[in-house]
Amino acid sequence: MGAEQCQVHGVQVGQLCCPHVNSAVRGSLEVPRDAAVSANIDMMDDGSDLLLIVMCQSCAARFNIRVNANLPGEVLDRAGLIPDVAPTCGICFAAWRNGRGGSDA
Ligand SMILES: [Zn+2]
Ligand SMILES: [Zn+2]
Repeated sequence: MGAEQCQVHGVQVGQLCCPHVNSAVRGSLEVPRDAAVSANIDMMDDGSDLLLIVMCQSCAARFNIRVNANLPGEVLDRAGLIPDVAPTCGICFAAWRNGRGGSDA
């Protein structure tokens, strides 16, 4: 799940991110990496398919998502995460997480 057409890397499968983290990964918005909240969505509800979801703190609060929470797959429907939360290029995401650019680089 989660295919994204990256302008740099082509079609990639990546993490689900809130619009603000998505913009930060693309370099058009400043979101401190340390402020990002990541959790897992248990897609099959048996631990076999965990999808990483990363949000800024305000979105995490809005959707009531706690740091490192394991969320049931139904949260995608129930919480109305889609379409606000969208997949991000995994390569760009990793670069952002590892400190490409950013205010504290
Ligand atoms: Zn956000
Ligand atoms: Zn990319």
